[in-house]
Amino acid sequence: MFTKKVSRREMLGMTGALAAASMLPAGEAMAARRGGSGGATQLTAAEKNDLAFMREEEKLARDVYLTLYDIWGTPVFANIASSEQQHMDAILNLLNTYNLPDPAAGNLVGEFVNAELQALYDALIARGKQSALEALQVGGVIEETDVEDLVAAMATSRLSNIDKVYQNLLNGSYNHLRAFAKNIQSLTGQPYVAQVVSQDIVDSILDS
Ligand code: MN
Ligand code: MN
Repeated sequence: MFTKKVSRREMLGMTGALAAASMLPAGEAMAARRGGSGGATQLTAAEKNDLAFMREEEKLARDVYLTLYDIWGTPVFANIASSEQQHMDAILNLLNTYNLPDPAAGNLVGEFVNAELQALYDALIARGKQSALEALQVGGVIEETDVEDLVAAMATSRLSNIDKVYQNLLNGSYNHLRAFAKNIQSLTGQPYVAQVVSQDIVDSILDS
């Protein structure tokens, strides 16, 4: 249903960002890996693109949970929304470190620069309004999508300070997916069914 990941890769491919990342000369990659005092020139286009995207993807999570909490009052949404705010802050810190613009600056809840994330937000809110169960399922969609995108961003990034932040966000997504799955199971009496990634991946997260 949601093809965000694929179309994002297509978008990166069209801009040549993926090609540029894979063709980076070894010396340049080494220089970037050494890190240092920051500076936008140290990041590839793909790395910059990922940071901007993840900033708005974490905002999408926060904004959806705030909105669904307003509608349903289910406590899990309020708890996880505050965690997503911390994730947004962690990415903003990286954007600032590398002197990159913040795509979320000045935007209200439910407002996104990335058209794909705007469309995803609108679709998820429409689904989440249908019932308290659908709202929890939306949480599952967001966390599974986040896992997929964070794993991809870690594969792209060559910098340990960035990977460390992505890993923290990934651990958060694992916790959040477990929380939504638990809430869904207590409502339906049925185990959580994967919606974005494979059932094997979901099960390995839920069992850990
Ligand atoms: Mn998050
Ligand atoms: Mn999350």
